[in-house]
Amino acid sequence: MATSLIAGLDAALEARRVAGLWRNRQPVESPQGPRVTVAGHELIAFASNDYLGLANDAAVVAAARDAASRWGVGAGASHLICGHFAPHEVLERELAEFVAPCIGARGLTFSTGYLANLAILSSLAGRNDAIFADRLNHACLNDGVLLARAGFIRYPHGDMATLERLLVASPAKRKVIATDAVFSMDGDLAPLPRLLELADAHDAWLVVDDAHGFGVIGQGRGSVAHFGLVSDRIIYMGTLGKAAGVAGAFVAAHPSVIDTLVQTARPYIYTTAAPPMLAETLRVALRIIRDDAARREHLIDLVAQFRQGARDLPWRLLPSATAIQPLVIGDGRAAMEIADALRERGFWVPAIRPPTVPQGTARLRVSLSAAHTADDVAALLAALHAAATADIRT
Ligand SMILES: *Cc1c(COP(=O)(O)O)cnc(C)c1O
Repeated sequence: MATSLIAGLDAALEARRVAGLWRNRQPVESPQGPRVTVAGHELIAFASNDYLGLANDAAVVAAARDAASRWGVGAGASHLICGHFAPHEVLERELAEFVAPCIGARGLTFSTGYLANLAILSSLAGRNDAIFADRLNHACLNDGVLLARAGFIRYPHGDMATLERLLVASPAKRKVIATDAVFSMDGDLAPLPRLLELADAHDAWLVVDDAHGFGVIGQGRGSVAHFGLVSDRIIYMGTLGKAAGVAGAFVAAHPSVIDTLVQTARPYIYTTAAPPMLAETLRVALRIIRDDAARREHLIDLVAQFRQGARDLPWRLLPSATAIQPLVIGDGRAAMEIADALRERGFWVPAIRPPTVPQGTARLRVSLSAAHTADDVAALLAALHAAATADIRT
């Protein structure tokens, strides 16, 4: 028996538990949506990234059923062996045309956004290069830097003056600026126009991770379209398991970038392709994103309603115009207690703690969806006010 190895794990796990950092998974017993069943109880959930309510949309589900009948379930191999299907090819073209980060952009689909970020950074940068990253970037962009073995230069959140100074001082051969477009735990937008100016001035790539912008802003075309930017330097990464409601991710970029990824990106080459039935399903989700502006308009109304109603809560509501509406509690344990109190009232709002967010900024991450009603949001606001009153008393 590997007793000392197991004992080592157990000691580390216990330390985590004692520090209040234990993470629990909650098996959901219903489809994703504004109402989910957990442990036999229905909860109104403000927790998912299903911003447009497509994860369990009838048309998307029907598309998946049809696609499974037509294409079967699995891809059976990686893209470069025999797992690249006609639906992948068509979806890539449709996504690239829709997002259009540069003239003549091409697309490439991935099984997950995590893999897409690893692929982009490890293909564009190597040992003698430098990757400049916002401090609040998503963990998988940071992991991409490790896979690239490049220099890792972080700048304070949104601090363009510091980034400029760091770019000027860097002797790196190739420079890559990588940023979340909509910050996943804060909901604010990166200053993409200024980032592109800096990329132009320093001949750097600009990697834009639009996991939370695609489908939601820029008429659904995402953050780059929202700002009206067009450049060969932009490498756009959008995910397909959030607003698009299915799974996977894509890159849209200059054809030479796409060719480079196909030829060299290990996270593209050495993994089984996503099922073609999902690519086919995503084409229907993409059509809804493109044509159903009403979902986005409803979401914008809910965001305004929430922000108005949350103004007098005792917690700091971060300045966000997106579906991500964080309330900063500060202490991790207090955030957990408030999340538990909401849960008792029938609401699922996740508490986000370090290391996912910086120390002292544990928060409730309220995420809104077009599938919510104004009544759902009003009920959440009432529960938050009740939890705040209880919190102050204790
Ligand atoms: C969710 C997320 C990813 C990862 O995408 P997956 O498809 O879930 O692997 C990447 N970047 C950001 C900012 C994210 O929020």
